[in-house]
Amino acid sequence: MLKMLTPDQALDLVLVNTTRRPSSVVPIELAPGLILAQNVRADRDFPPFPRAMMDGYAVRAADAGRSVEVAGEVAAGQAPTVEVTPGRCVNIMTGAACPTGTEVVVPVEDTRVDGQRVVLPEPLLMGKHIAPRGSECPAGSVVLEVGHPLSSLTVAVLAAVGRESIQAFDLPRVGIISTGSELCPPGEKPGEFQIRDSNGPMLAAQVHLARLPRPLVLHADDTAQSLSEALAQTADMDIVLLSGGVSMGRYDLVPAALKELGVNAIFHKVTQKPGKPLLFGRKGEQLFFGLPGNPQSSHFCFHRYMAPAARKMAGRTAVEPERQALLTRPLETHSSRTLFLLGRARIHDGQLEVQPLTGKGSADLFSGQLANGYIQLEPGDNQLEPGQPVPFQFMGERR
Ligand code: AMP
Ligand code: MG
Repeated sequence: MLKMLTPDQALDLVLVNTTRRPSSVVPIELAPGLILAQNVRADRDFPPFPRAMMDGYAVRAADAGRSVEVAGEVAAGQAPTVEVTPGRCVNIMTGAACPTGTEVVVPVEDTRVDGQRVVLPEPLLMGKHIAPRGSECPAGSVVLEVGHPLSSLTVAVLAAVGRESIQAFDLPRVGIISTGSELCPPGEKPGEFQIRDSNGPMLAAQVHLARLPRPLVLHADDTAQSLSEALAQTADMDIVLLSGGVSMGRYDLVPAALKELGVNAIFHKVTQKPGKPLLFGRKGEQLFFGLPGNPQSSHFCFHRYMAPAARKMAGRTAVEPERQALLTRPLETHSSRTLFLLGRARIHDGQLEVQPLTGKGSADLFSGQLANGYIQLEPGDNQLEPGQPVPFQFMGERR
């Protein structure tokens, strides 16, 4: 008999048993949302030459207040051909290389044209509007490190240092098996004592919100054969989610089916509500989550255990931060287990506040529809007043 764990012990065990996936080559345009698996260095100085930051004139600082000769011009991409000397300036464009002798770039709007000459303002500050060579980053320096979350801004850096593709950690592939002989697909008319499979689509939606590839979604009846056939199809998946069939009923055959497959059960049952019968197992690097069939239990166990494992596999930060949110209404609870309640949090007067959306237990699909996270309450008797802080964790959809 496996020991019943607290939610935190269970999450620790999940993460201890989770390994980061290997990496693959990804074109930079498709990199946002992934995690960098290599260090990236600057292939040259940035900027590669002293760069003019304004359209204007490259001048000597001592020429402040004087009328100077415009001896030539330099546009972005051109090599400067004329030097800047006392009394002689060069017309320069944003992004162009400053000619030898440049001490200041004076914006065109600060000057007055005087035939072939320009009149410069006073005073002139040495180095103004010039980005010195290598001032943003020197050649060879690491610009992005392993573990960096890739964004559209990092794509610009990667392109600037000459990368068209990079190594990023692979995302885990997820297989979902909805178990239950009472289930029919959402598109079909259920028999009188059947119900539609809502967990399959819900878990697939959670996978989508977790920015993971489209999952393989299967159904199994409550027979050993049907379960083992479905499990056989998930052999290539990094994470297998089974909904239903992990409790104490005569047709709860998931633990036996996993054992038959050679899955090592790491824990079964957590002192939490919802989701007490949660089963977690591992075979090699493949993880198996037996989620209790009640829709809220399945949803919660995905959020609290599976999503962190998937994030760790992808190289992301595993556990999302927990915040303190102020209750908007009184809340009275009595439970021997840690309670997780759906709640809707929002910022109000600069404070995070949360409205608990308690329904009619974990089989009630309809009351928590506006939730954007979970409130956590310790076991025992809780009599909480409005304005009291409670731990709250946002989930995938924050709306
Ligand atoms: P189980 O964990 O298999 O005992 O299921 C617990 C409850 O959740 C039962 O009322 C099931 O009918 C229901 N249930 C199980 N799987 C699903 C599913 N995929 N969609 C909707 N309800 C489900
Ligand atoms: Mg069942």
